[in-house]
Amino acid sequence: MAAQTPPAAPAHDPAARRDLAVRAAVAQGLVGGAEDAEPLVCLLDVAGIRASAAALTAAFAAALPAGTPVLHAFAVKAAPLAAVLRLLADAGLGCEVASPGELALARAAGVAPERTVLDSPVKTAAELREALALGIAVNADNPQELARLDALVAAGPTRSPLGMRINPQTGAGTIGALSTATSTSKFGFALRDPGAREWLVRAYVERPWLTRLHTHSGSQGVPLALIAQGVRELHALAEEINAAAGRRQVDTLDIGGGLPVNFASDTETPTYGEYVAALREAAPGLFGGGYGLVTEFGRSLLAKHGLVLSRVEYTKTSGARPIALTHAGVQLATRTVYAPAAWPVRILAYDAKGVPKTGAPVAQDIAGPACFAGDLLAAGRELPALAPGDLIAVPDTGAYFFTAHYGYNSLPRPAVHGFTLTPTGEVRFALAREAQPLRAIPEEAGASHRDAFLPGPDSSPAGV
Ligand SMILES: *Cc1c(COP(=O)(O)O)cnc(C)c1O
Repeated sequence: MAAQTPPAAPAHDPAARRDLAVRAAVAQGLVGGAEDAEPLVCLLDVAGIRASAAALTAAFAAALPAGTPVLHAFAVKAAPLAAVLRLLADAGLGCEVASPGELALARAAGVAPERTVLDSPVKTAAELREALALGIAVNADNPQELARLDALVAAGPTRSPLGMRINPQTGAGTIGALSTATSTSKFGFALRDPGAREWLVRAYVERPWLTRLHTHSGSQGVPLALIAQGVRELHALAEEINAAAGRRQVDTLDIGGGLPVNFASDTETPTYGEYVAALREAAPGLFGGGYGLVTEFGRSLLAKHGLVLSRVEYTKTSGARPIALTHAGVQLATRTVYAPAAWPVRILAYDAKGVPKTGAPVAQDIAGPACFAGDLLAAGRELPALAPGDLIAVPDTGAYFFTAHYGYNSLPRPAVHGFTLTPTGEVRFALAREAQPLRAIPEEAGASHRDAFLPGPDSSPAGV
């Protein structure tokens, strides 16, 4: 008989770390099954995030000649939390920002302008001016935006590396709303449209300051080979531009992010190593050292390391259907609730002490707190029978879930804590975001303007 593999030490096993963290979150009062305990909290596995950042860096470093400039810019929209950006900066990463708010957050986190890339599809003239004044890399989305860059570059020198985003039009993945490289996608310059390629090559040759090319052709639901095909198009275009210019004008390729994530188990697949292998096959020239690289991964760096923990407040049956009513719903898992087939999540059951529940599986609906019937995290899910005071955990929610709060029903943003294990296996929590206090809800909803629509003392109603 083959020897059994010993269980992985908690420090190296994300599932074991998660169980320890859930237990500690209850013991330390971050969340609980008791009536007066906190009903909802979000956790981030700090060691897991560091491990993903290290895996990304190592996978590209292993494939590139030593000394090739590489910037791994974290896509801030995946987890816009200052502590996350700071942690990733400490691990050697920069930021990809796509709105003035994301840029402000990256700056507040201490990320340097030369490690920041601005990619939003709809930048104002003022945003472009600020980015160039700061020296932030900018990828123009379209010819009209390029014309704005023309004016800014003519007005004075900038340290900002500048490029265009192209849409390689290589096709969609399984999730239409997330597919960036369809023939009619709203993103970037559509490379295969009639006359487009010739126009773009000329546009580069006429503008020696355009030194970068950008694409972001992947996303959840897009196979690696299809993402790699988009990057191959990017590399081929750079070679064509440089041949036309008669020099290495384009010196850096920004290949975007878009590595999909496995939401079905704790296995991390595909890996960065597998993606690099797919890129080497599709575009070997990318790894020759002739181009610097920028990447913009978001989901694959954070998703596996986030956890939502909610108390089961009530249970009931409706028809013959058992339902657990929890505090985690559409405000934290917006895509799952509105598009459940595309975004299924796992649900894990814990008892009121935070110990994994055992027992015969029963098909149950896991419902959220919002006032519409579709606010379900899972329908008919086989889990040990849940009871009031139990906890449910939703793993893989570190990117685009609780960090992309949806304000339906004025539900507040829950607290986010990072956790680490000490060498002795003790769990330490560090607050990354406070729970939104209840008083903030009326404030943000204009409580100080509550009389705005009433007739004022010095106005008389129209027609009087
Ligand atoms: C959203 C986005 C990313 C990150 O995508 P992930 O799928 O989270 O890796 C990178 N670049 C751009 C331009 C994006 O819009």
